Amino acid sequence: MNFDLTDEQKMVQEMARNFAEKEIAPYVEQDEENHFYRREILTKMGELGLLGWSIPEEYGGNGMGWMEAVLALYEIAKVHTSWRLSISGNCWGPAMTINQYGTKEQKEKYIPKLISGEHVGSFAITEANSGSDVASMKTFAQDKGDHWLMNGSKMWISGGHVSDVGLVYAVTEKGAGHNGLSCFIVDFNNTPGITRIPIHTKVGMWTAPTSELVFENAVIPKENLLGPLNKGFFICMWQLNNTRMGCATGAAALSAAALEGSVQYANERTQFGKPIGKYQMIQAQLAEMKLEDEAAKYLVYRAAWLKDKGLPNQQATSIAKLFGCQAAVHAANMAMKIYGSYGYSTEYPCGRWLRDAKQFETLEGTSNMHMQIIANIELGYQPNR
Ligand SMILES: Cc1cc2nc3c(=O)[nH]c(=O)nc-3n(C[C@H](O)[C@H](O)[C@H](O)COP(=O)(O)OP(=O)(O)OC[C@H]3O[C@@H](n4cnc5c(N)ncnc54)[C@H](O)[C@@H]3O)c2cc1C
Repeated sequence: MNFDLTDEQKMVQEMARNFAEKEIAPYVEQDEENHFYRREILTKMGELGLLGWSIPEEYGGNGMGWMEAVLALYEIAKVHTSWRLSISGNCWGPAMTINQYGTKEQKEKYIPKLISGEHVGSFAITEANSGSDVASMKTFAQDKGDHWLMNGSKMWISGGHVSDVGLVYAVTEKGAGHNGLSCFIVDFNNTPGITRIPIHTKVGMWTAPTSELVFENAVIPKENLLGPLNKGFFICMWQLNNTRMGCATGAAALSAAALEGSVQYANERTQFGKPIGKYQMIQAQLAEMKLEDEAAKYLVYRAAWLKDKGLPNQQATSIAKLFGCQAAVHAANMAMKIYGSYGYSTEYPCGRWLRDAKQFETLEGTSNMHMQIIANIELGYQPNR
């Protein structure tokens, strides 16, 4: 095992760090306050090649893989967690799934615009009454011969109302459970019958739009079925094993941001005539944060390394995601304590870290679901794909 990053990986890391400092950092507080989605950040990410990981160069991919992707995403998410969604929403979600399951025409039509940042991507699985139990979804796509007629609704869709193109999972054979779902590519700008409703009540992730999507007799072209009919559940699980790397990386990055902030504060804040960092109890808190922060980062690297090698990685991905979210929530909680009353003030980022960290316990599979995956693989009840 080699812990050295290659020159190319160091370059990617530095480029993403510079990008985040220059293009994201100046707007964090103002955009948080206004709950504002700054679309041009995605465009600039696309222009720099920050959305084209593991995608063939013929469709505009950047020629690099998972390891480089997580290094870049880590730097971006460390500055502002909301922007960790960009790579999942455009690359690891729709682009990568279309690349895996799509026809040549679908790949040529959709992938280049997703990874150049010209299009905002999304993926819609969850419904108001169907979350962890994906196969219980009700949105129905009826085969009408020359098109699909989609009816139903999706809930909590990241980027839903700003998205140009998204993957929408729907029932195509009622009563068939896992074997009755299919995946569709939906062009939101050119499909009548879709209403997109922004959700403004989120606890955190304020600059990342989230939406409800309602489909009322939405006509989906026949050729927009992605992959085989009724194999949508399996496509969905394949996709989630990729997109949840966004949560794992974002969580590790948030934990690092909270640690870095806390170290700086502990060195600056003086009580009883000494910097608070000199007190053993503060040191113990920082040591715990560091412990989890390092572990979270290396678990992400390990999952990315396995993916790059094409080795089974589902358990490693779930471990990275589950541990990362625990580290992030713990670090954010600790940071708020170390900052004292200033931690409770919106002048400091502790509140944002804590609000944003809590997302990781639910998105892309709740912590319970990841414990289930890890245990089921460990017990031999399911294969480690
Ligand atoms: C900000 C945000 C962005 C999101 N973005 C997207 C998106 O882009 N696309 C998308 O499709 N979805 C998205 N989601 C939805 C998210 O992935 C789901 O909310 C998540 O999968 C959990 O589903 P649920 O909320 O219905 O919880 P439920 O499934 O109802 O779970 C509720 C609780 O019960 C537990 N539970 C459920 N079943 C079991 C079981 N068998 N064993 C043990 N415990 C169980 C869960 O762990 C949880 O604690 C987003 C959500 C949020 C908040």
